Amino acid sequence: MANTFNKKYTYQPINKPNLKELYNGIKTGNKTVLSQAITLLESKNQKDRELIYQLIKKLPAPSHKTIRIGITGSPGVGKSTFIESIGSFLCKKDYKVAVLAIDPSSEKTGGSILGDKTRMENLSTMKNAFIRPTPSKGQLGGVAQTSHEAILLCEMAGFEIILVETVGVGQSETHVKELVDFFLLLMLAGAGDELQGIKRGIMELADTILITKSDEGNELNAKKAKLNYQNALHLFPANENKWMPKVLTCSSLENKGINQVWDVIQDFEEKATKNGWIKKNRSSQNRFWFHQTLQNFIKNKFYTSP
Ligand code: GDP
Repeated sequence: MANTFNKKYTYQPINKPNLKELYNGIKTGNKTVLSQAITLLESKNQKDRELIYQLIKKLPAPSHKTIRIGITGSPGVGKSTFIESIGSFLCKKDYKVAVLAIDPSSEKTGGSILGDKTRMENLSTMKNAFIRPTPSKGQLGGVAQTSHEAILLCEMAGFEIILVETVGVGQSETHVKELVDFFLLLMLAGAGDELQGIKRGIMELADTILITKSDEGNELNAKKAKLNYQNALHLFPANENKWMPKVLTCSSLENKGINQVWDVIQDFEEKATKNGWIKKNRSSQNRFWFHQTLQNFIKNKFYTSP
């Protein structure tokens, strides 16, 4: 009896897909293969990563329009609930939505900040959604080096809207900015900026500030906060993309204000595509990640050589 049990439940390593299987899987939008590809990308084994670099080189560039959206804010501000809400809204509109949640480990405890709580329960069951947490331990102040390639893989697998979630507590946001086209900062009404751990630098990066938990009964507070942030944003220098940052309010639990957020993102996308900014920004991001990879490679070589 014991033997049968052991045989049945002995750990079997998952078969690693080869280049052809990865290629076919990604081209047909297979979410399991996409997940496997990202795991190989994050592997400590150089050979696994090289396989994925080969794959990316081989795959055709996506022929559909894609938008990369960064979502950040302090723990508890309502990021995952918002993503659940807007993600479901977009899937119902027939968009294919990928969520990459970059989960920084706490420097003190080594534990994960985003936590093991069940996140995005509804969205995770939707056919058009793909959700992938990514550990960022030790990488670039929080942003996983591999996130740039993970975004490319999602797009090559047919995803149109990529939501990149990070915790807005460190300097990682400047690196998130290097991953996305549009940067959304979530804030609470009524809590001081110091309390929320949000630094001025992050506010300057935001294309939109979204005040969360504007539920029935809390709308007045949210409106006041909106005015304050609108006034504060006027004092900042104009963004490189010529976009005037907006301030919006929403209640993810009551599904209010979600469509307005999407309207603003679409407006941004239209303008930033027309004036060439998205294209220009993505190529400068490619250069940034190329240099990061190169620096890491040289550093590794140095430290592993006697
Ligand atoms: P995260 O840490 O930023 O991802 O925040 P969560 O999405 O986990 O939300 C933190 C808490 O705020 C949870 O208890 C949510 O239920 C709650 N929350 C999120 N959005 C809303 C909202 O629109 N209204 C209210 N009242 N609570 C919310």
